Amino acid sequence: MNKIVAVFFIPILLINLGCSLKPIVEPRASPLPVTPALNNKTSHLLVMPLVQAPERITKKPFGVKISPDNSPVSPERFAGYHTGVDFETIASEQNEEVKIWAVCAGTLILKKYASGYGGVAVQSCRLNGQAVTLVYGHLKLSSIIAEVKSELKAGEQIGVLGNGYSTETDNERKHLHLGIHKGPAVSLLGYVKTKAELDDWLDVAEYLK
Ligand SMILES: [Zn+2]
Repeated sequence: MNKIVAVFFIPILLINLGCSLKPIVEPRASPLPVTPALNNKTSHLLVMPLVQAPERITKKPFGVKISPDNSPVSPERFAGYHTGVDFETIASEQNEEVKIWAVCAGTLILKKYASGYGGVAVQSCRLNGQAVTLVYGHLKLSSIIAEVKSELKAGEQIGVLGNGYSTETDNERKHLHLGIHKGPAVSLLGYVKTKAELDDWLDVAEYLK
């Protein structure tokens, strides 16, 4: 072996011997991302307003035409096309607090007692880059701690459901009515007279996926 070959190959041999004593770690093709990549879909979605939300849509989905004759609820005093989605409660929840969470981040713009709802809260949000207002109906008004004009985080508790067949729900069964009204203006309509008027509203269920 001449001198030049020895200079090159002996260090390589030593390095290889050294490496063989350590676990081989494969180099990464690229460094790990510091923050998870944003999923574009998630910015179009809402946080669940209560536990097991999708399973609770059993009586009045969005857009269903209700009349006292065909209603899944008895007695029924409303008629028209349902602007929101109703989330039902089960028997064991009638005497329990059922927490309701803000489905998006945004300002609480109204809380009051309203005919047909009992306690109702309205929150302004942005959904798909568009201004919307969220109507949370049949809440126990005194449980809504946040002040009007304060900011709510997505997932923050708004309040609890009002007790069924009491003034807290304006004598309705214990359930959440949740509506999404397009634009920044407040509308408390739970039903509209014509199908065309439903265009002012979005189907909550489409955003809970
Ligand atoms: Zn409803």
